[in-house]
Amino acid sequence: MRDDNCIFCKIANGEIPTTTLYEDEDFRVILDLGPASKGHALILPKEHAANVYELPDEMAAKAFVLAKKMAKKLSDGLKSDGLNIVQNNGEPAGQTVFHFHMHLIPRYKGDKDSVRLTWDQGTLTEENKQEILEIFK
Ligand code: AMP
Ligand code: ZN
Repeated sequence: MRDDNCIFCKIANGEIPTTTLYEDEDFRVILDLGPASKGHALILPKEHAANVYELPDEMAAKAFVLAKKMAKKLSDGLKSDGLNIVQNNGEPAGQTVFHFHMHLIPRYKGDKDSVRLTWDQGTLTEENKQEILEIFK
C-alpha cells in the first residue's frame, strides 16, 4: 500500500525526483538531502510501512541484505573508514519521516564532531534486568 500523504512513498516510487543510487522492484536507495557525512544514503521500501513494526518480514530480510550490499559499495567507493547503519522508530528515537527507512552513514576518521551517534552509558540495574527478562519468558 502507498500513502498519498507520505513524501517517502512519493520519492520511492519516482514521483519526486531524487538522487537514486540503486532501484529494484521493492526498494529505492537515495542520497539523503541533509547528509551527516559524504555518502549518507537512505534505503526506502516502495510499499509504505511507517516503521520497523509495520514492515513485513520478507521486506525486512531484503532490506538488510540490500543494506549490506550498499554499505560495501559505498565504503569501498568512498574509501570511508567505517559506516553506521541506523534505523529510527518513533519521534523519541529521532524518526522524522514516518515511512520506514535505513540510514547508511559512511564514517571518516575525525568526523566525531559532526556525526554524533553516541549516548551516555548507564548502569544495568538488577530491577531492570529482571523486568526485561520477564518479557522474554
Ligand atoms: P529520520 O530522522 O530517521 O526520520 O530520517 C529522515 C531523513 O530523511 C533525514 O536524514 C533527512 O535529511 C532525510 N530527508 C528528508 N526529506 C528528504 C528528501 N526529500 N530527500 C532526501 N532526504 C530527505
Ligand atoms: Zn510512505
